[in-house]
Amino acid sequence: MPIDPTLPYDDDNIFARILRGEIPSKRVYEDEYALAFHDIAPQAPQHILVIPKGRYVSWDDFTARAGDVEIAGFVRAVGRVAREAGMVTPGYRLLSNVGADGGQEVPHLHVHIFAGKPLGRMIA
Ligand code: C5P
Repeated sequence: MPIDPTLPYDDDNIFARILRGEIPSKRVYEDEYALAFHDIAPQAPQHILVIPKGRYVSWDDFTARAGDVEIAGFVRAVGRVAREAGMVTPGYRLLSNVGADGGQEVPHLHVHIFAGKPLGRMIA
């Protein structure tokens, strides 16, 4: 069920619980700003989620409240995960769903990284 990204952060959302280690995940990367793990329902041969460690619902919430160092650390982690997973060649796709029309289901900011096959063009 898509969420309303303007609601306050919910500390019981599934990614908050993954961050606290209450729910298992297949972790591939972690640093001060970000955690990356395999999506449980992969939509491509490689499908990794990268989440910030801070309590942010969406890109809107993140860019409005996070500091520049935190934002840079998270964005850098996304690039690093893709690079270390060997996705740079032949390529990959980033996706971040926001709100109801964006199809966001988990109310903790996340970036999907898809790779491992030709993904086609989404924009004509
Ligand atoms: O962008 P959206 O909110 O729709 O995506 C949430 C993603 O989180 C889904 O791809 C889902 O498979 C994934 N997920 C996960 N582990 C969980 C719960 C959801 O990888 N325990």
